[in-house]
Amino acid sequence: MRISADRDLCIGAGQCVLSAEGVFDQDLQDGLVVLLTPDPAAAELDAVRDAVDRCPAGALALHEG
Ligand code: SF4
Repeated sequence: MRISADRDLCIGAGQCVLSAEGVFDQDLQDGLVVLLTPDPAAAELDAVRDAVDRCPAGALALHEG
């Protein structure tokens, strides 16, 4: 599983951090998403899916396989 985050789309809403704080963070300067773990463990899949679903900007994508 691999995650991608498009900072050009991100609006800094922080939903992804609430869903999966081990995978996502927000930049202290501009509030935009920071990917902490681009290749998260399988155990984090549900949390990552939740983050992708909850992102209001469609900035996150999950690539499985
Ligand atoms: S939920 Fe989406 S818009 Fe909000 S910080 Fe995360 S990537 Fe950015």
